[in-house]
Amino acid sequence: MKKITMLFSVFYLIGFMIALDSFSEKIFFIAPDANIFQEVFPDKLQKNTWYPDGITLEVFNTSYITFNIAYSDPSGRGFNDPVHPNRKRCLESALMYISNILKTSGTIDILVKPSEFDGNDAIAFGGSYVFENQDTFSSCFSQLRLLKGTKPVPSMPEIQLTVDFGRNYYEDPDNVFPANNQLDLLSVLIHEFTHGFGFLSFVEEDGKTPLTSNNKYLFTVFDQFIYKGDLALFAGSPPAFQGVPSDTISNQLVFKSSYIETHFGHEGIAIYSKNPFADGTSLNHWDPDRTGIIDAVMNPRYIAGAIIRQYTLLDLCALKSIGYANILLPDTEGTLEGLPEGTGEGTGEGTGEGTHEGIGEGNTTEGQTSEGTNIEGSLEGTPTPDGENGSSDDTCGCVKNQSITKLIFDFILIGMVLLLISQKQCNSKK
Ligand SMILES: [Zn+2]
Repeated sequence: MKKITMLFSVFYLIGFMIALDSFSEKIFFIAPDANIFQEVFPDKLQKNTWYPDGITLEVFNTSYITFNIAYSDPSGRGFNDPVHPNRKRCLESALMYISNILKTSGTIDILVKPSEFDGNDAIAFGGSYVFENQDTFSSCFSQLRLLKGTKPVPSMPEIQLTVDFGRNYYEDPDNVFPANNQLDLLSVLIHEFTHGFGFLSFVEEDGKTPLTSNNKYLFTVFDQFIYKGDLALFAGSPPAFQGVPSDTISNQLVFKSSYIETHFGHEGIAIYSKNPFADGTSLNHWDPDRTGIIDAVMNPRYIAGAIIRQYTLLDLCALKSIGYANILLPDTEGTLEGLPEGTGEGTGEGTGEGTHEGIGEGNTTEGQTSEGTNIEGSLEGTPTPDGENGSSDDTCGCVKNQSITKLIFDFILIGMVLLLISQKQCNSKK
């Protein structure tokens, strides 16, 4: 009988380990502008730190967020090129601006990957990480860290950025006069970091997300605000696609939230959903052809010669909707609640343009009036908490942790009961 009990215990242990493994959370990285969606394995990264060996962290303090930045470029290249000292200044200016907009205190770790110089494909790409979803819309790591105050995974950064310096960049954060064939680096970085702070979606052409297993999806907090008419395209628990595949190329999708509706009306604001589907662009950006707003940070293209260093009201509403509740918006009368401190401003359009991922589409926004003027002002106001997405308590993985705890408890309980039964049988045979 002892042998049977031993055998049972071994099987029980194996089953327990398999069950635990199946509950471990997969992690995925997303960088929309390079169309990167990939599973990452923190155990295969550095054991104790989130950045590669040999890198000296640079700490950049702002009024709200402390940024730990790991520049991976070797000395003399990319961000570490002494001939281009303004590259780091542009990066810090972008972070300073965003921090002063989000007005949320905390720490964010940023891994700046080795720069590219090929001048092809993505101009730059930034992104963040999400846990594979089970029951809720996933917050990305930067949202989790800033809004929950705990680092999601010690061996991983919250935001990752890559820049292709094979482009003709205007690298002056103090002035606003790029040549008409230059891309403004600071504008590009604000856009990329905004993806990194959660302006992102994994949704593909069929309305589902890639890299799913066991009906676990990668719908993000951002996704819950994507509508077609009055239909929330992603809803339910666990979140599921509610539409038909052609919806993603219907040219009708909008971002809708209480903030957007307050400031732009019930129809919502156009999300890029043209036909054909553009991986990484569709559902991850506004559609300026439908919004008529040419200077939104999260428009899908960089325009050479243009400066877009400030969020439009549109961008601000979206960021506030996805959880950054301290963002100041104009009140409903149109006066401003607050002044986002930040970098200099300026607009200008030039000939030539760079798409984020090399989509060869003409950007014919000239002649359209801009409704999304940049936010300036100096009135103060009390930020209202964002009560609309209801996700602040259940997108952090807590639900999953509870499930694991319950699983462990159940296993121990069942194990004890079975052990008692086998002992009883053993005794009765005696
Ligand atoms: Zn983008």
